[in-house]
Amino acid sequence: MEELEEIEEDAGLGNGGLGRLAACFLDSMATLGLAAYGYGIRYEYGIFNQKIRDGWQFFEGKELRLKQEYFVVAATLQDIIRRFKASKFGSTDSVRTVFDSFPDQVAIQLNDTHPAMAIPELMRIFVDIEKLPWNKAWDITKRTFAYTNHTVLPEALERWPVDLVEKLLPRHLQIIYEINQRHLDHIASLFPNDVDRLRRMSLIEEGGTKRINMAHLCIVGSHAVNGVAKIHSEIVKTEVFKDFAALEPEKFQNKTNGITPRRWLLLCNPGLAELIAEKIGEDYVRDLSQLTKLHEFVDDDLFIREVAKVKQENKVKFALYLEKEYKVKINPSSMFDVHVKRIHEYKRQLMNCLHIITMYNRIRKDPAKVFVPRTVIIGGKAAPGYHMAKMIIKLINAVAHVVNNDPVVGSKLKVIFLENYRVSLAEKVIPATDLSEQISTAGTEASGTGNMKFMLNGALTIGTMDGANVEMAEEAGEENLFIFGMRVEDVTELDREGYNAQKYYDQLPELKKAIDQIKSGFFSPKEPDLFKDVVNMLFHHDR
Ligand SMILES: *Cc1c(COP(=O)(O)O)cnc(C)c1O
Repeated sequence: MEELEEIEEDAGLGNGGLGRLAACFLDSMATLGLAAYGYGIRYEYGIFNQKIRDGWQFFEGKELRLKQEYFVVAATLQDIIRRFKASKFGSTDSVRTVFDSFPDQVAIQLNDTHPAMAIPELMRIFVDIEKLPWNKAWDITKRTFAYTNHTVLPEALERWPVDLVEKLLPRHLQIIYEINQRHLDHIASLFPNDVDRLRRMSLIEEGGTKRINMAHLCIVGSHAVNGVAKIHSEIVKTEVFKDFAALEPEKFQNKTNGITPRRWLLLCNPGLAELIAEKIGEDYVRDLSQLTKLHEFVDDDLFIREVAKVKQENKVKFALYLEKEYKVKINPSSMFDVHVKRIHEYKRQLMNCLHIITMYNRIRKDPAKVFVPRTVIIGGKAAPGYHMAKMIIKLINAVAHVVNNDPVVGSKLKVIFLENYRVSLAEKVIPATDLSEQISTAGTEASGTGNMKFMLNGALTIGTMDGANVEMAEEAGEENLFIFGMRVEDVTELDREGYNAQKYYDQLPELKKAIDQIKSGFFSPKEPDLFKDVVNMLFHHDR
């Protein structure tokens, strides 16, 4: 059975946490018996496999993206309207009242702004095809849509150039302009003579290339807007979209992300799932809050030993898999320190890398000193056009090469870049993990879901007070996680003061040494300048 499973390709769920979250929602809704559909594109070629050659990420090329976004939206709305018309609610004799019950029968949740064109598309169907008056169409549209915000990073918020939308979707552009005119008229009536507020809240950004702010479109066209963890929903309300929250505070909500325990415990870690079921029964599979029943067994030595034994078995199994598939040997009795997720500056794989270099230097300085043997595993894909993320992958591979081949270090420290991280690989590495790295800069990771998968599989977490880590610390007790680093307030304060990287470099000798090594070509002797962009970023534009 396991051999057959290996042949099955992973489903193309998209890039990282967002698509996986949607898949977990489907599992959750099926389990709870809620009627729902998930609409998405089934890519044949669009999802990439990661190939690491010589430490570099290689691959097998904005207009196509906009076409894809409109394609999924157009197909979805046609299906929804077909189903509605075929139901008893859509077969009223009076054409004028057919769509009155639409928002009671249909709820459309926008998973980020990628399907935002559904708002002008539904308006187009109602006004142009079904001949509803604008106000009625708009009322039904707003009561149908709700929007989940998944990020506050400005570069990740979609802003389509007006020229491109005009070329591909001219009617939708007209509708967006009409929505915007009415929206701005409404704001002007509430806040007279506040031109700057109108500029900030417009769906159209002027100055340079004219662009449509898709998050603004989603907020204006929806009756509910949610963030994906308490701290993130607060930032959405009080910072990123504060003008919109001032206008309609009741619209803004929180729905903290979650993961399905069926996939992320029962399926991927049957040994642990069975041990738990022996103690507290099987109902926790549909109601995870029942895990608190395990409190009774915290001092049960036999149970604790059995939990540790399952972890050890998972580690041995993963080590064998790595040896077979990747031809790398790791020591299953070392600590598995795992940092797997998309490669991004805000997720701070580079900080982890600086820590690896520091551990390496400490071992070399005093080889006789006691050191807990550690295998650091880092994995994740970079977006094809993201230069710095690719440089970080190359650096990790270069550091791994030096560390893994240094006889002074021996088996104390090993560094593995895990190629082609994806759901099927997550299911293997997470049950084998001792230490889960959740170290994003506070205020940048909206929720994270990797953090939850690791904790459910009995890994300890080292992390910042960011995203859902905050609520995990609240639930498990801060004494059960390794929480470190600046809080959101500290980051805001440092940002206001002005961050001076040179100061930290001058004051911390171990950090200075690590950066000097990267800069001097210690990890890239054939090309000493290779990492100059990385070092330059650290000094001059490290966010
Ligand atoms: C869960 C998951 C993610 C999301 O991880 P984060 O740590 O929340 O960024 C990304 N990729 C895969 C394959 C996952 O299973």
